[in-house]
Amino acid sequence: MPLFDFTKHMEPVTAIRMRTLKMILEASKSQFPEEFAGLLKADKGVIKEVWLLPGTESGETSALFRLNMLPREPKVVGTVHSHPAGGCRPSDADLDLFTRFGYCHIIACAPYGLKNWSCYDGNGNRRKLEVV
Ligand SMILES: [Zn+2]
Repeated sequence: MPLFDFTKHMEPVTAIRMRTLKMILEASKSQFPEEFAGLLKADKGVIKEVWLLPGTESGETSALFRLNMLPREPKVVGTVHSHPAGGCRPSDADLDLFTRFGYCHIIACAPYGLKNWSCYDGNGNRRKLEVV
């Protein structure tokens, strides 16, 4: 049973603002070698904002995202975090998080260039996200 039924609220997310993507990559860089973590907020199907999570600490993804602290808010569509070790493939902990929260998740991976990121759906499958 999911903590929050996103299917009742979800609007299809098709794109991310270039500005927002750059902000994610910059934040990932500045946190290096620590992990960066935040929440993705979309408006009319376009991700335009990133909320930094308060009180996040470096380490396992499960620790970064304390599920009980995540807002149940329709405009929050999923999560973003960085992989300082490189490689954008979700870990088991990431997949567990993806199935329990949201439906659009970004992983940014070192060295955090404009192509060093991937987007996943709630089942951990790679999904397309346009940059606009
Ligand atoms: Zn991860």
